[in-house]
Amino acid sequence: MTVVPISETATLVKVMDDPISSDILLQPENMTESPNENARQTINTTIDQLSPELLQVNKSLHAHPETAFEEVFAHKTLTEFLESRGFAVKRHAYGIDTAFEATFGSGGRHVVFCAEYDALPGIGHACGHNLIATSSLAAFLGAAQVLSETKTPGRLRLLGTPAEEGGGGKVKLIEAGAFDPPEDISAAIMAHPAGSGQQPDPSNPIDGLAGMRLIASAKMRVEFKGRTAHASAQPWRGVNALDAAVSAYNNISMLRQQIRPDERIHGVFEVGGTVPNVIPGYTRMNWFIRSPTMPRCDDLVKRAQACFEAGAAAAGCEINYIM
Ligand SMILES: [Zn+2]
Repeated sequence: MTVVPISETATLVKVMDDPISSDILLQPENMTESPNENARQTINTTIDQLSPELLQVNKSLHAHPETAFEEVFAHKTLTEFLESRGFAVKRHAYGIDTAFEATFGSGGRHVVFCAEYDALPGIGHACGHNLIATSSLAAFLGAAQVLSETKTPGRLRLLGTPAEEGGGGKVKLIEAGAFDPPEDISAAIMAHPAGSGQQPDPSNPIDGLAGMRLIASAKMRVEFKGRTAHASAQPWRGVNALDAAVSAYNNISMLRQQIRPDERIHGVFEVGGTVPNVIPGYTRMNWFIRSPTMPRCDDLVKRAQACFEAGAAAAGCEINYIM
């Protein structure tokens, strides 16, 4: 694992310090002495020169946050930017309105740069997907410049991947063939920003990681259905769906002590009732359940569902999952 500094637009250039990544892009027989170093210089110079425009793209995406599959402004901004620089761009790619792809080069190996650009509901670009779009755009432009200047065979593709805060945009793109045939693609890469110093070991401060492992994540909404009743006049006639949800939440809180340190369960109440004098007949929670591997995540989901179902049983409610 390589520790690298992350700057606003040059993340992927730093990732390419990794000799394996560099080797993917460069064919030594077509290069002069120190081919990788020359290529790196070209990429750095290209991105430095483009920096004011990239910053403008980055800031405008940040100022126009759009949620999953609604990234109309980002789609327009990025595709127009690429077209203005002469790249072949396919809008609304793979049957997804806000997906796109830009391509460059021929022959050689094929590298895909993934650009995410969706935001979170209510809190905008808190996850920094505007930076993902900008860093992949910068990497694509820098790599295209070096392939062009050195006449190196190779294919580059900037793939606009919507709905990564929720909605599984890349899953839909995979299903639609955006990564087919897989053996044709030497690498599919992107960078995700993180807060400086955001790591488990404060004695080992780092500003970025290359090649980090990802974590499996199961997402589900849980509905509890009971029966409304007047909370003062006839509470005994009600079946309290809020009690089911509160109990489920407390069960998960107890479970958390017994799960592994690299696992996470976190949820919110989305619907918790309307007024105090009506026993809630319907509540809904939204949960994320994460573990390093899919089999472990599946096991953790079963344990979480036991907590939800115990809450439903305690309150006498029906339970329903929306996956
Ligand atoms: Zn994110």
